[in-house]
Order: sequence, then structure tokens, then C-alpha cells
Amino acid sequence: ALSAKNICKSFGDKKILRGISVDVAKGEHIAIIGPSGSGKSTFIRCLNLLEMPDNGTLRLDGQQVLDAELKTPTRSVRSLRKRVGMVFQSFNLFSTHTALENVSLAQRLALGRTRDESSTRSEELLKRVGLKDHMDKRPGQLSGGQQQRVAIARTLAMDPEVILFDEPTSAIDPEMRVEVLKVMTELAEGGMTMMMVTHEIEFAKQAADRVMFLADGEVMEMGPSGQILTDPENERIRRFVNALS
Ligand code: ATP
Ligand code: MG
Repeated sequence: ALSAKNICKSFGDKKILRGISVDVAKGEHIAIIGPSGSGKSTFIRCLNLLEMPDNGTLRLDGQQVLDAELKTPTRSVRSLRKRVGMVFQSFNLFSTHTALENVSLAQRLALGRTRDESSTRSEELLKRVGLKDHMDKRPGQLSGGQQQRVAIARTLAMDPEVILFDEPTSAIDPEMRVEVLKVMTELAEGGMTMMMVTHEIEFAKQAADRVMFLADGEVMEMGPSGQILTDPENERIRRFVNALS
């Protein structure tokens, strides 16, 4: 579904991504782990061009969406962002709007859906993430876990082909995380193509097909989640995973 080749990114003279490649198959779930500052967020942001790579290519369903040397026209950046959804650590909801409005707004603006169409779809998605009774509440009236589920519903409303998650549970109280992980597990089981930066090792073991371990802007090891999370070749990964388990 999504293919990234040799993604490079520097900030100033600091090399952050030193050529990262990955092929994500349709329906595949990849977890990205690694130490703070290793470039996980930068990489995942490059995949929907929230960050513009300095070099590399990006293909979505075989179609080239980025050739860093040629630069990408704004129009295709917008269409790419619809096709590759993103869920952030910090939810990024509009605090003055209800859950229903938060899920509906982007559908009207980006997809041109009518008020009725977008409301119907939003209600259906909010029910699906377990928020049937909270649709008319504003973010401030919801727990972190509930807010993140609103954000997931908002992303799903774009009918994305791939969803990228950047530490979706790390800003949420531990007891509220489980409901977000449950929604993500259901999405994974439903065949959604997903890439997720996460430090939830148990979740990654169970929901991810493959794990990519990033260190210093490079892939240190990548392989089946069972292997990387229980028997990695690299000692540094073993220590990292043990510290989180
Ligand atoms: P964490 O686990 O803490 O979220 P990360 O692996 O997601 O870390 P990134 O956020 O990708 O790491 O950051 C990688 C490096 O790039 C860091 O040194 C960071 O300070 C730097 N960096 C990220 N974004 C910018 C920016 N917009 N301008 C300058 N430096 C940046
Ligand atoms: Mg990060």
C-alpha cells in the first residue's frame, strides 16, 4: 500500500533521518519503536508530508506521491493527507466544538460532504469507537482516552487507506489507555493498514505484524514483531524492550 525509499531529513546541519525505507503491504500493521530523539515522529510525519523529506521517494498504491528532487505540488499533498490519516499524541481537537462537530468538520471542508452526510457518518463512527453517549460533549468534558477516540473517529471519517499513529496513548492516563488500544486492535483486525509509533510492548506484540526499531535516524533492526520484541539480534534493542516490559 505504502512504500518509502531512502527517506532523508535534516534540521539545520543535524541529520535526523539517514535514509529510511519501508514497504507496508495492504492490511499490514507496523510498530515503530526506539529511543527518544531517534526520529520516529519525524519519519512518520514524512509519510504524509507533514514534514517534507530532503530526499527519497514515496509511493502510495504504486503511484509516486513524492520525488524529493522534483518537489511535490500542493494539490497532491492535500490528496495524500486524505489518503494517509494521522493520529497524534496530543489529540489536536477543537476545544470549542463538540465531539460530533470535530468529526464532521474535516469531512465538510476536505471532502465536501453536506452537513447531513457528515453528521450521519460521524455518529456512526463515534458509536463504533464507543462514544455513543458523548457525541455532544466538548473535549474539556471528555477524558484523554475519550478525546483520542474522537480523534481516531475524525481520521476514519476521511476513509484513509493508511493510518499513522504517533504515540497515541502516551498522553493518556494508564487506566484510560486500554479503551484506545481496543479501538486500534479492532481497526487492525478489520484490515486497516497501520503504522504506529508506540511503547506499548504488549499491544505491539499482539497487533503488529512487524516492528521497526529506529536508532539515530536509521533502522537498526526490522522483523516480525514476535522476534524483535522477544528475541532481537541487537543487544541494545533487547535492553530497550526489557526496560519497557
Ligand atoms: P520521542 O520519542 O521523544 O518522541 P522521536 O523519536 O519521535 O522522539 P523526533 O521527534 O523525530 O524523535 O526528533 C528527532 C530529532 O529531531 C530530535 O533531536 C529533535 O530535537 C529534532 N527535531 C524534530 N523536529 C524538529 C524541528 N522542527 N526543528 C528542529 N529539530 C527538530
Ligand atoms: Mg516522537
